[in-house]
Amino acid sequence: MAIRFTRVLLKVSGEALMGGQGFGIDVAVADRIAADIKEARDLGVEISVVIGGGNIFRGVAVASKGGDRVTGDHMGMLATVINAMALRTSLTKLGVDAIVLSAIAMPELCESFSQRAALAHASAGRVVIFAGGTGNPFFTTDSAAALRAAEMGATALFKGTQVDGIYSADPKLVPDATRFDQLTHDEVLSKGLAVMDVTAVALARENHIPIVVFSLHEKGEFARILTGGGRSTIVTD
Ligand code: UDP
Repeated sequence: MAIRFTRVLLKVSGEALMGGQGFGIDVAVADRIAADIKEARDLGVEISVVIGGGNIFRGVAVASKGGDRVTGDHMGMLATVINAMALRTSLTKLGVDAIVLSAIAMPELCESFSQRAALAHASAGRVVIFAGGTGNPFFTTDSAAALRAAEMGATALFKGTQVDGIYSADPKLVPDATRFDQLTHDEVLSKGLAVMDVTAVALARENHIPIVVFSLHEKGEFARILTGGGRSTIVTD
């Protein structure tokens, strides 16, 4: 079976982990995403993951209420560490060797990020989960995903969403929105398509990393796309 991409960075939003709940982590959903990651890894694909924190905290929530944005972003980055630990637990339960590397040092909980450590863990066959975003306020975990994809030499950045690709508008709000099979990084930016933030798309463009947008809701879809099936939008140069 031909594998389309052999070294992949998967972005999982925090919201994906909360399932039907309005907040926090639904362990059954985390277990399902872990099973999808295992299925893809069992194809021989090297996988690392950047996880968001929006199911717990976003910095803008503090800033919009008159609080300090930087402190809010620190809180958001801590939220990503909580999610990373949950995903590591789910992967470990399935017998997948996984490790959390945080952009913010917290040695009692997990290892600190360095590119060297990340590459070493990946080549030892571990699923590397990147926590703490970029480690800097005013960034997002989408940007962290593009950054880590470049650092890992990933051949694709997979963005798991609620829908099966990029649309001209949110298909849940605009039923006749156009779905795209293929786009360029420039088109995503010039059309203002809100699939990832501008910094993330620009970084992927600069490093010639394709972005594959797909539904993380669909069980097994990650592996299907890796083997040439499934539904997704691919963004290339
Ligand atoms: N964050 C940050 N710097 C980063 C990544 C994330 O400050 O490099 C903070 C920011 O407050 C953000 C929160 O962490 O709102 C959670 O990340 P994000 O919103 O990207 O999570 P997602 O939407 O993917 O769940």
